[in-house]
Amino acid sequence: MSQSVTTQTEQGLYINPEALTAHLPALHYQNDALHMEQVSITEVVKHYGTPCYVYSKQAILAVYQAYTDSFASLNHQICYAVKANSNLAVLGVLAQAGAGFDIVSRGELMRVLAAGGEASRVVFSGVGKTYSDIEYALNQSIGCFNVESISELTLINDVAKALDKSAPISLRVNPDVDAKTHPYISTGLKDNKFGIAHEDALVVYQQAAKLSHINIVGIDCHIGSQLTEVEPFVAALDKVIELVHSLGKVGIELRHIDLGGGLGVRYIDETPVSIDEFANALLPKLSKLGLTVFFEPGRSIVANAGILLTQVDVLKPTEHKNFAIVDAAMNDLIRPALYQAEMAVIPSALPNNGIDTEGTQPWDIVGAICETGDFLAKDRLLSLATGDVLAITGAGAYGFTMSSNYNSRPRASEVMVADDRHQLIRKRESIEALYADEVLWQG
Ligand SMILES: *Cc1c(COP(=O)(O)O)cnc(C)c1O
Repeated sequence: MSQSVTTQTEQGLYINPEALTAHLPALHYQNDALHMEQVSITEVVKHYGTPCYVYSKQAILAVYQAYTDSFASLNHQICYAVKANSNLAVLGVLAQAGAGFDIVSRGELMRVLAAGGEASRVVFSGVGKTYSDIEYALNQSIGCFNVESISELTLINDVAKALDKSAPISLRVNPDVDAKTHPYISTGLKDNKFGIAHEDALVVYQQAAKLSHINIVGIDCHIGSQLTEVEPFVAALDKVIELVHSLGKVGIELRHIDLGGGLGVRYIDETPVSIDEFANALLPKLSKLGLTVFFEPGRSIVANAGILLTQVDVLKPTEHKNFAIVDAAMNDLIRPALYQAEMAVIPSALPNNGIDTEGTQPWDIVGAICETGDFLAKDRLLSLATGDVLAITGAGAYGFTMSSNYNSRPRASEVMVADDRHQLIRKRESIEALYADEVLWQG
């Protein structure tokens, strides 16, 4: 079916659920009922309630496989960026497939190890590593620290010296290219807090080479997230390659080049470059270089493997707007509030009056939190009744991991499906657990 995914009318945006799911490998309608793999969403809701995140094991593995296949002609390592979705089951599935991991905290490293990941395949990114983070990571013998400042470099050397170890490092260089994405997820510009300025990198590498407990193994960059075009990646790669050559001239030889993450996904009707196109644009330059290549994809691996299920609790039409108040809120999924992200909201059961704008009304899908910023989608043409279950697609990345307990709301349950099986992978938090560690003032 080649129906268009969206229809914009004066009243709002209509998203055709069947046209949308045609682009989402894990999702389809069967007898008008939404399924993930072979599991019906009704079944999931019956077992685990709402709000509930659901992830497809096959969808995660398919994207991971697409990365490894596309770069098969090179020595490469895919280091899944844990912050996108850090559930142990997700990490475990990827660890079993042979993935490495990109982490930004000690907590993420502990998760990776708990999920069966290999420390030697871990790269440690992030601007603010502490003494104890570094100590823990060195004791686990991680693969590489991606260093973002001279101060961090000195600290890593000090910790390594105290432990009588040698710390493998790469410098994260900031290539000053515009990723053309949302400003909050753009990281490769001069005025971002990330990385070491391109023009300073050579000098910092030479300083690193003089440190007794530092072992230079690579070079790293990461320019932003949800990039839909390949040009910024190519521009960044060109700048990094230039540096690799300059380093060679002063006798600093590297083993790997790390191009970070950031490949975008299709949430509604974006048209990001495919992994294949991405690989084809980079491969000629990379194969000439002769280094092992690392990637740190997060969003592109898990975003479209996940949905957030939520139930419509209250319908509140007003003179100017219709509000559908659902049982998920900005504490469960903050992307719309934080990044103005547009995510698709589709029914778990197709209305029997057919799928088009007929019979629909414009709705703002909002949570019950006391904030005007608490919305999940605005001006969507839907046919709604209380008790309906809706699926927010593209919710596998930066969904649960960014969730909070604001308004004393327990965090959602998480479920994984594979073929016709479903399994709880994180139980819904209990309300008691939210304040179990709090203590009344003793006075
Ligand atoms: C967030 C992040 C990633 C992953 O980015 P995606 O857009 O999710 O692919 C990779 N590397 C670093 C250093 C990051 O901060």
